[in-house]
Amino acid sequence: MSNNTDIPKLLRDAGLRVTPQREAILNFLIQYNGHATADEIYQSIHSTFPSLSVSTVYNTMKHFAEIGLVKEITFGDNASRFDINVKPHHHLVCRKCGTLIDFYLTELPVFTLPPEASGFEIEDYHVEVKGICASCRASSPVGESKDS
Ligand code: ZN
Ligand code: MN
Repeated sequence: MSNNTDIPKLLRDAGLRVTPQREAILNFLIQYNGHATADEIYQSIHSTFPSLSVSTVYNTMKHFAEIGLVKEITFGDNASRFDINVKPHHHLVCRKCGTLIDFYLTELPVFTLPPEASGFEIEDYHVEVKGICASCRASSPVGESKDS
């Protein structure tokens, strides 16, 4: 998703009315590495839209996710992040700064399922690869990353 994405078109194609709030939310999401929590979105736009609450932002994002405009991703018990990239993809996760980097699997993985998974219908899966991103590695001394 590039920085010159036609946001009004994105909204119209999803069957939504174009509002300044919705445009601002999507614009932030695109600028912000494509992934953000409702709170991060709220923090970035609440000075422009003082009447907007964090729960309104959250509900808007849930709605966007329902209609396929964004993808909701969750990591364990952490707050949902909303992803502007709706193609099937996976994430490298920096465990220092939390940045997410999209990646794609070029081959379908082979699942080795235990007997108790018999009858389980897989609907979706997400590969989360943890590590330290290049900028965090550059900013911390060698060997320090192990126990932080
Ligand atoms: Zn990092
Ligand atoms: Mn992503």
